[in-house]
Amino acid sequence: MNNFDLHNHSTASDGLLPAADLVALAARNGCDAVALTDHDTTDGIASGRAAALDLGLKFIAGVEISVSWSPSIEAKSTTLHIVGLGVDIDNAALISGLDSIRQGRFDRAKLMSDDFARVGITGMFDAAYALAENKTMLGRTHFARALVNAKHVTSVGKAFERYLTYGRPGFVPHEWTSLSESIDWIRSAGGIAVIAHPGRYNISKPDMTVLLTEFKELGGAGIEVITGSHTPQQYREYATRAREFGFLASRGADYHGPGESRSEPGKLPLLPNDLVPVWSQLQ
Ligand code: AMP
Ligand code: MN
Ligand code: MN
Ligand code: MN
Repeated sequence: MNNFDLHNHSTASDGLLPAADLVALAARNGCDAVALTDHDTTDGIASGRAAALDLGLKFIAGVEISVSWSPSIEAKSTTLHIVGLGVDIDNAALISGLDSIRQGRFDRAKLMSDDFARVGITGMFDAAYALAENKTMLGRTHFARALVNAKHVTSVGKAFERYLTYGRPGFVPHEWTSLSESIDWIRSAGGIAVIAHPGRYNISKPDMTVLLTEFKELGGAGIEVITGSHTPQQYREYATRAREFGFLASRGADYHGPGESRSEPGKLPLLPNDLVPVWSQLQ
């Protein structure tokens, strides 16, 4: 029982597979357990859980919360992702917190569309909205796919190279929730807070130490070590960080769908043996 994959997306956020199909894929790939961790929503959990029950696969209700954080008052803020695992999706604090983030996403999407119009690309709000299966969860990925469909770029990856990122058309700075609130919502809902793909954040090593220290002080307990967003060198780097801070270690593909992700659920290397896996606290 150690092939747990604890970070995956469905059509409830910016994944391409419905939650039930994602769970079926995890089962086919030999997972012992799978977590669904959609961005800022738990709308896929019920159907994912039902599918897992049918397949005899252990299912963990999760969420990936968008956060703005900066290492000091003067420094500019960075977007972080905090995964909550084993959350009660009926918890009022979690529900209202996620609702407010998704409302912010809707407002951001309007501004993103305006920014595209500035460079002559019109109708982007409607195009992205049409591609979002969950009309309350609009993300940059929906815009990226809309750019591919309209032949502005040939792939989602290229869409994020030419558009949608800092300094490029379609990018709108956004203030997400705080690190402290995200952890509070997860813990109120009985879940474990895990820092998602730490290697992907554009922050210095000393600032990473500040982040991990603060995360732990605020009640964060886990860190992703093996993720589709890390290089093998980063597997080692964040295994070291897990030991240093006494964090529970997590592993997850961050799967979004066929052709859009480096790794399918259950296919990444296993966690190093000496780390305490976060799933030991999730049974
Ligand atoms: P958002 O939370 O709406 O700002 O969008 C973040 C999502 O965009 C991530 O979870 C990824 O799914 C996707 N994304 C960000 N950067 C890239 C990239 N370079 N290539 C492909 N997808 C990306
Ligand atoms: Mn995503
Ligand atoms: Mn993420
Ligand atoms: Mn993710």
